[in-house]
Amino acid sequence: MHVHRKTINAAVGITGIGLHSGIYTRLELKPAHAGSGITFVRADLHNMRIPALQASTTALEYATTVGRDDVAVGTVEHLLSAVVASGITDLDIHVDGPEVPIVDGSALPFIHLIDAAGVRRMNEEIGVLRIDEPIEVVDGDKSIRMVPSRKLVLRYKIDFSHPAIGRQSCQFELDHDSFSRKIAPARTFGFVREVEKLRAAGLARGGSVENCIALDDQRVINGPLRFRDEFVRHKILDLLGDLALVGRPLVGEITANRAGHALHSRFVARVLEASRNQLRQEAGEMVTPPAAFGSFA
Ligand SMILES: [Zn+2]
Repeated sequence: MHVHRKTINAAVGITGIGLHSGIYTRLELKPAHAGSGITFVRADLHNMRIPALQASTTALEYATTVGRDDVAVGTVEHLLSAVVASGITDLDIHVDGPEVPIVDGSALPFIHLIDAAGVRRMNEEIGVLRIDEPIEVVDGDKSIRMVPSRKLVLRYKIDFSHPAIGRQSCQFELDHDSFSRKIAPARTFGFVREVEKLRAAGLARGGSVENCIALDDQRVINGPLRFRDEFVRHKILDLLGDLALVGRPLVGEITANRAGHALHSRFVARVLEASRNQLRQEAGEMVTPPAAFGSFA
C-alpha cells in the first residue's frame, strides 16, 4: 500500500517557551523535497539536521528528544503528532534552540500552524508500513500491542491513583479532522508535588499553569478541563507523535496500556524490526526502475 507524499505550501512560524528547558525558541516549519523526510534543523547551530527517526532518539524521560552528536531538540512529540495527523511526510522543522515551544501544552497550535500553511500533495509516493503478525512490548504492568489492520487505530488505557484521573480509556482512528477536534486540544499534565524534583533534574523549567494541566494531590488546580478524559486523550496524542519516528505512515490497531515515551520508543523499534523485510524490499524498489516489474501497484 502506497500513499502520496505531502509537505506544506509555505513557511510558517511560532515562538514560545520550552516546557523542560524554560528557553524561548522560534519554531519554523518549511516545505521540504519529496523523499527528504521529516527533519529537525537547529537554525542556531549552522542548520544542523536531525532526522525525526527512531535512530535519532536520545532521551525519553517525560518527553521525547532527538539529537545527533551533542546537538538535540526536545519535546518533539506534540508537534510530530500534528504533522503525522496532517499526513505530512516531508518537512523541515527549524528550531533556534534546544526545545520545541510547548505553547498551550496541546497539539492544537501546531494543527493551526499547518492548516494556515496548507498541505500540498506531491506526485511521489511512500510505502505504508503494515505488519503481518501481532507484535507486543511489555514492561511490568505496561504494554503496547499491535495487530494487523488497513487503518491506524490507537487505543489507550491509563490508571492513575489520583482522584481527578483514575481509570480512563480512549479509542481513536487516524483522520485529520477528528484529530483536530478530539485529540489535538488535549493538554499535557503534571503534578505539583513533582515540580521541585523535576526542576532539580533540569526538567519542567518552563512549565506553568498556562501550558499544562496542573494537579495537586486532590484536583486540577487550573481547570476547567477541555475534556472530561483529557488525560487519556493526551496519551493518544503523545503515542501518535512518538510513532512519527517510524519514519513513514503506519497502519495497525494499537492498544497501549499505562505506557509512556520509553515504551512507545521500544514499540517503534519492534515495529521497525518486524518490518525489516518490507523496508529492504522498498529500498530495492528505489534502485530498480519500477518499469522492470511491468506494473507498480
Ligand atoms: Zn505529551
